[in-house]
Amino acid sequence: MTTVSTHPPPPPPPPSNNTTTTASDVNQPPPPPLAIQSLQISEISFTGQTGGVPESALDDVGYPFQTPEDPSALFEKIGQVGEGTYGKVYKARNGKTGKLMALKRIRMKTEKDGFPITAMREIKLLQKLKHERIVQLQEIMVAKGSVYMVLEYMDHDLSGILGHPNFNFEPAHAKSLVKQMLEGLAYLHHMGILHRDIKGSNLLINNKGELKIADFGLARVFEKNRAHDYTNRVITLWYRPPELLLGATAYGPAVDIWSVGCIMLEFFTGKAAFSGVDEITQLDSIYKIMGTPSVENWPTVKELPWYAMVRPNENYVSKFKESYASLLSAGALELLEALLSMDPLKRPSAAEALNFDYFKTELPEAVMPANLLDIAGDWHEFESKQRKRQKGSNSSNTNNNKSKQETRPKAAPSLPSSSRP
Ligand code: ADP
Repeated sequence: MTTVSTHPPPPPPPPSNNTTTTASDVNQPPPPPLAIQSLQISEISFTGQTGGVPESALDDVGYPFQTPEDPSALFEKIGQVGEGTYGKVYKARNGKTGKLMALKRIRMKTEKDGFPITAMREIKLLQKLKHERIVQLQEIMVAKGSVYMVLEYMDHDLSGILGHPNFNFEPAHAKSLVKQMLEGLAYLHHMGILHRDIKGSNLLINNKGELKIADFGLARVFEKNRAHDYTNRVITLWYRPPELLLGATAYGPAVDIWSVGCIMLEFFTGKAAFSGVDEITQLDSIYKIMGTPSVENWPTVKELPWYAMVRPNENYVSKFKESYASLLSAGALELLEALLSMDPLKRPSAAEALNFDYFKTELPEAVMPANLLDIAGDWHEFESKQRKRQKGSNSSNTNNNKSKQETRPKAAPSLPSSSRP
């Protein structure tokens, strides 16, 4: 391993932008293949309106299908709203209830080890979670070659909304969304679960302005008050806290809190808080605003595996207050500074954060952004990107400098099916 002062140990090649796997993950014995049957989910039968669908159609949710328990529950595909790590996410209508649902397809064909462990983890966790700030899993359906998670439908995700050409949140709305994020996290952390991929496209919002946390593919149960040995290759790069970038494998809920801080700052500035292209430039981008960590402001930083190897040549002092004081209220500044503490032990828990003056005493009070009803169409990251592509040739004529112009890290980090989190 090269010990160049400004570079971390070379990580294994990322499977996609910003996503990698630790050696310790890879060295774990692979879990036994998981049979779909162990999920205790019922096989669905396919019945096209004319008495059956061709084999080739089984991959396509566009064909009506039904569960044995509820034969009249046919889903009509309306359109694709997401391109996830496992497969596509569709907007669909339940023919019986008329309710809109999201169908998240788990692609099975490429899996050598059986049912993908990340999907298994997500399903098991979602089955346990019942909270108004967590997306609700309604049922699981199995079709040839694919499993579908049937989820309550949410009109937008935060990344899509932030990419809207002329929609902006009022301060009271931004406050509500940060509050709702923290409420969801307070519940998750209370349940002993780390999300490990909090970012805009995983924060779903409906037209009533309700926010729900989604995508539990990287989430895991953590043991409170115990040393942990988890992978540090989680959380999409721009939302990844410094302790993970410095190689920490013992960590807790504070990793999700950092991500909330990044998103909150993005509400006010309209662009990603820290936007590196790899671990080193990400750390650099954090240091330039928050200051270089030292034993004075982060007593245990020296113990982190990569600290000595990635020490920057220059020492920066924090520019956080001077950079944002004119943009943020005193309460917002105080909360953000706490959420973005370099030392994870100094970050408040989600429950503590909800008691900050920003929420308790400072005006305006949080108001759910029900004005989302006024925006035409559904705004998820997927459609947002598509609209941008469609506009592509014209966009050089428009003068738009919002965050949507940035090249966001594409994928949520993904663990290989044989890894332990
Ligand atoms: P993956 O785990 O494969 O990355 P996600 O769960 O993140 O997939 O879903 C990908 C995208 O699909 C999300 O960013 C979101 O825009 C959309 N999506 C996911 N779940 C829903 C839902 N319940 N309602 C509406 N859109 C959803």
